[in-house]
Amino acid sequence: MPNITGHTELVGLMAYPIRHTQSPTTHNLAYDKNGDDVIQLAFEVDNDSLKDAVQSIRALKMLGSNISMPNKTVVHKYLDEVDEAAKLCGAINTVVNLRDENGQVTGKLKGYNTDGMGYWQALTEEGIDFKGMKMVLIGTGGAATAIAVRGALDGVAEIEIFNIKDKFYSRGEEIVDLINKNTNCKATMNDLADKDLLKEKMHAADLFCDATGVGMHPLEDLSNIPDPSFFKKDLIVTDTVYAPRETVMMKQAKEAGCEKVFNGMGMMLFQALIAIKLYTGKDTPVDYMKEKLG
Ligand code: NAD
Repeated sequence: MPNITGHTELVGLMAYPIRHTQSPTTHNLAYDKNGDDVIQLAFEVDNDSLKDAVQSIRALKMLGSNISMPNKTVVHKYLDEVDEAAKLCGAINTVVNLRDENGQVTGKLKGYNTDGMGYWQALTEEGIDFKGMKMVLIGTGGAATAIAVRGALDGVAEIEIFNIKDKFYSRGEEIVDLINKNTNCKATMNDLADKDLLKEKMHAADLFCDATGVGMHPLEDLSNIPDPSFFKKDLIVTDTVYAPRETVMMKQAKEAGCEKVFNGMGMMLFQALIAIKLYTGKDTPVDYMKEKLG
């Protein structure tokens, strides 16, 4: 039980539905470990109540708030500033109440997307220098877009994006266009149904990411990859899914002899730790968090 006093400061989490979230567990563990008199609480906020909820960050002098669905693509309307990557991917998951030179919150709110940052930070922590890499990315939803945009801004050389021809496909075409216009990265949009092309691109890539949720309930028995021959041994293989800890795709990659295979736990942890640093300015001990969160 945290020692809540008159000085305790508040970080929010605004989403609907939200009661299943692990975020307060992660944040409050970190604030406690860092010796910060801060707590995070989850609030049921949908698009209808979002404007008032964001205004309450200013009114209550909160440090900020995490933002999840259905608010990620809407919240920018109520903010004062938006970070470049969040602007490009059109989604915000962290709103920070900016501080003045004395460390006091100002009521000026800036939006960030730490999902993309978290994915790349997790790879960096594994000793992987992704600058100049060629990537194959499956997915054009929220997670994939954040990963692609941040990677392109931070030095990934090429991203071959694949998606099924559902409602997300045109979003992928827009993201490819934005990346090619705004970064030095060369991005291409491809149809996931073209498995020969997928195999060719995977064999030419350094890094692979599945950011679709295929491999997670209710699709836990499925993989977007037809068989292990799609993986070459030195491919770095990542999945944004963290439950289960090992997806069918990750098993296929290991069967093919890939040694660097990572689930979405790192992305999830680092998106939180980056947000925490934005709120408090503090780095949280990573090993401690990994040990506590399992
Ligand atoms: P989203 O709904 O925004 O996007 C889903 C994507 O998957 C789209 O590109 C869609 O076309 C594709 N897709 C859906 N069904 C498919 C199928 N049957 N076959 C192939 N492709 C299919 O979802 P999102 O928010 O981007 O989340 C995607 C996954 O990433 C989820 O598993 C989510 O849990 C995970 N995620 C993890 C983290 C993390 O921190 N590790 C963060 C965000 C999301």
